Amino acid sequence: PGDVLEVSFRGTPGCQAYFHLGDLAEWIQMQEKSHQAQLYWGTAVFGNHSDVDTIEASGIYTGVYIIQPGDTATNQPIYCRLIHPNGQSLDFAYGDISIDHSPVPKVAELSTETTVLRTGPNGVYYLFLPPGTKLHLTGRRGDFWRAKLSNSEDAWIADGDFRWLPSGTLLPRSIVSTVRTENRGCFTRVHIPLQQRLPFHVEQSVDPAELRLRIWGATAATNWIRHDFTSPVVREIRWSQPAREVFELTIRLNQKQQWGYASHYDGTNLLLDIKHTPKIARGLFRSPLKGRVVCLDPGHNPDLGAVGPTRLEERKVNLAIALKLKKLLEKKGATVLMTRSDRQGITLQSRAKFAAIVNADVLLSIHNNALPDGINPFQHNGVSTYYYHPQSYHLAKILHSRLLKTLKLPDHGLYYANLAVCRVSQMPAVLVEPAFMMIPEQEALLRTDKFQMKIAKALMKGLEQFFKEGRR
Ligand SMILES: [Zn+2]
Repeated sequence: PGDVLEVSFRGTPGCQAYFHLGDLAEWIQMQEKSHQAQLYWGTAVFGNHSDVDTIEASGIYTGVYIIQPGDTATNQPIYCRLIHPNGQSLDFAYGDISIDHSPVPKVAELSTETTVLRTGPNGVYYLFLPPGTKLHLTGRRGDFWRAKLSNSEDAWIADGDFRWLPSGTLLPRSIVSTVRTENRGCFTRVHIPLQQRLPFHVEQSVDPAELRLRIWGATAATNWIRHDFTSPVVREIRWSQPAREVFELTIRLNQKQQWGYASHYDGTNLLLDIKHTPKIARGLFRSPLKGRVVCLDPGHNPDLGAVGPTRLEERKVNLAIALKLKKLLEKKGATVLMTRSDRQGITLQSRAKFAAIVNADVLLSIHNNALPDGINPFQHNGVSTYYYHPQSYHLAKILHSRLLKTLKLPDHGLYYANLAVCRVSQMPAVLVEPAFMMIPEQEALLRTDKFQMKIAKALMKGLEQFFKEGRR
């Protein structure tokens, strides 16, 4: 009860429309949406403010029903009716609805390595949860299930990413008693003992420097927080209970530049590992790159990536630039690890995972650009840079401005973007697209060793600057 059922379909504009909900409700009136401008994401993101394209949508009818107490339905068909001004009418089946009145909650346990929860059915990525996390599922739409996080928060999970727990399983709930920190050398571990694996989310803030850990289903009984005072990174920890069964831990940090974190479960203990600032070399004759571990990710392979007008393959250019950059960084004393060589292909997820496993200080993914359909590359091209976590913004900004200054190409923009290689949380991670494969002049430049070297040098200088500024 209280759930909102929205029915919408597209048909001939200018008609009357109704929907019929099994035994629940007969012929509820629907409305045709007034001409609504829907943004085409491609131009909204990559175009100018002024030339945002819209898709004219007409003939879209919507209707709403709010599930009432006492409503029952099991696979009740939903019908829609469209009545043309000339009197012709058309009925068609829309789908079906079931209402679950079971007083026994449905509890599921996540079964895949990392499960993505979305903001809605087909919504954007929201939470990334480890196996064994328990969720209370309260509804279904198509292939997605709704997980109830708190009284006011939901997230959606794809069918098949979990297994059902037997009826009678307790709801995912826990109290949080003692929290403690532990200095483990190159990182500090925050231990949060729980009674079950609960859904959680880590939110990073750069100013003030903090990590906020939100645990759904948890209630504070936190009388003790034990600090390992030798930790160079944790300044202080506070807990709060912003809502019933929502527990939040705010971990204030001593870092201006944050270097990464990882969260995982050990049994039912939630562990948050926060990386310490690496020991960055000082002194007039020593590069701050000395001793640093840089993971380079030349984009694509086995897929070709973008292909230029004279058949230049992006994957080859990306690798050529990465190899040049590798040499430059090694000359400065850095250790460079590559996610791929000439031969092997590797998935996006494995690239991010590789960088975390080798415990790199930064991950830099190198690409060259093409645009989504419908955007004119002759109007929109040049240097662009992408990041995901707040800790990566500063690196992205440095690399972007270095590339712009060196290459003298147009500024195509600095973007927050939900890209797999940027989503790695264990280190600052940035993806660069120095030039455009699709523009003949830029393709010709990308073919030359000289231009590839220019890009490599700009990136090396940028990384050097980043480490230098990141000492504290
Ligand atoms: Zn690419």
